[in-house]
Amino acid sequence: MTALSPGPDHGLTPDAASTASGKSRTPASVLHDLLDGNDRFVQGRALRPNQDRQHWSSLTQGQAPKAVVLACSDSRVPVELLFDQGFGDVFVIRTAGEIVDMSVLASLEFAVEGLGVSLVVVLGHESCGAVKAASEAMSQGGVSETFQRVLVEKVAPSVMVARAQGHFTTDDYEKQHVRSIVDHIVGRSPEIITKLDDGTIGVVGLRYLLKNGEVEVVTARGSAIQGEGQ
Ligand SMILES: [Zn+2]
Repeated sequence: MTALSPGPDHGLTPDAASTASGKSRTPASVLHDLLDGNDRFVQGRALRPNQDRQHWSSLTQGQAPKAVVLACSDSRVPVELLFDQGFGDVFVIRTAGEIVDMSVLASLEFAVEGLGVSLVVVLGHESCGAVKAASEAMSQGGVSETFQRVLVEKVAPSVMVARAQGHFTTDDYEKQHVRSIVDHIVGRSPEIITKLDDGTIGVVGLRYLLKNGEVEVVTARGSAIQGEGQ
């Protein structure tokens, strides 16, 4: 639950910082690359890489993104912007409350198996409406009869876990929801488990803070990135 401070030192290994490209990518180097991009974004030094015409027009033959990011659909959480990434850099899946269903799992597996990403990121955020709705529904006992009911059903277990552990703030709920989604992904996909175990990929849960633009590490899974920010 450590918020990463701005600056070049995230506590990641130094060798990871210099290998975030091509086939030398490692889960740690990709995580470092994304967190460095977030630092640039926060500091107002965004490079806006890989956004020129020559680059995006060169991608017609395929893609080799470094990470797959499952993020909330919230309009205040634009994934490429807050990580200072460009075209072809990240494979992004977005659902309200970053909830997971079979379609999301299929997209995650496609990114891992088919595109060879090195890092799976679950990105929650501060002031998440889906987490708030689930929390309010549990407190007030009312659940919508529309499709939005699914949002509450899929986020409420995270709120319950947090409350059972004695945590009752919105921040606590949002962080637990990220952890619960990470658990769900790791627990449901044999392909992801295999690559996590052999160090091919890492899975990390992050939370974006609207107030200052920073991303904090909530949980990190896999030997390749174990211990980062936990
Ligand atoms: Zn949200």
